[in-house]
Amino acid sequence: MRFLLSNDDGVQAPGLAAMAEVLARLGEVTVVAPDGERSAFSSALTLDRPLRPQHLDNGFIAINGTPADCVHIALNGLLDFVPDIIVSGINSGANLGDDVIYSGTVAAALEGRFLGRPAIAVSLVASNAKTLGIEAYRPAAERVGELLQRWAGLELPPRTLLNINVPAGTLDSHRGFRVTRLGHRAPSQDVLRFQDPRGQEVFWIGAAGDPLDNAEGTDFHAVQEGYVSVTPLDSDMTRYAVLDVVGAWLPAVTPAAS
Ligand code: MN
Repeated sequence: MRFLLSNDDGVQAPGLAAMAEVLARLGEVTVVAPDGERSAFSSALTLDRPLRPQHLDNGFIAINGTPADCVHIALNGLLDFVPDIIVSGINSGANLGDDVIYSGTVAAALEGRFLGRPAIAVSLVASNAKTLGIEAYRPAAERVGELLQRWAGLELPPRTLLNINVPAGTLDSHRGFRVTRLGHRAPSQDVLRFQDPRGQEVFWIGAAGDPLDNAEGTDFHAVQEGYVSVTPLDSDMTRYAVLDVVGAWLPAVTPAAS
């Protein structure tokens, strides 16, 4: 298998290195990742300046852009092959519930849909993830390797990706895999408002909110219980269940044709 690996924590991130190690055992891996941290960039594309690939000594390719940029240019000219699967991560920190809207990790996987390639996003669930070294990411990388070795047995419809969250800890601490739905978070924590050293007002966006819906069956619940959470995501955000409701309402706001 030929893998394209990216992330949103940047090309130097330990989670990326841990994932690359395992993918190299399973096949060929090409790493194209942002040259610095781009977490919470969602599917942003850079349109106002050129993107410059930088070939690093370890073979990884750094891009002065976003996670979606990396996958987009990798699949549109940078690579001279079509990867069998796009892997994004391992993110330093959870991507659970509403996090997937903001996540650059999930977005890099989503971008794989342009070539219709299967894609997975992987995150390590640990509140101190930003302080952890490569060792802490290796068990999660091994779990992803287990999934990929069985990949041929999974048939997914187009535009579908898997969002995987692995609890931090040793392999022994994992209780298994669980298929889940997204839970939901409360609104994010307070924005900090203060003055910079020159007396100007500044704001700093707060951390993600606490889980609001972490019922059984959610991604939150699975990782709390020590399971690797596997959530299928659809890039089609249409709310099919309310097409009729909106369709029945629109005539009331549309002027009748004369
Ligand atoms: Mn990140």
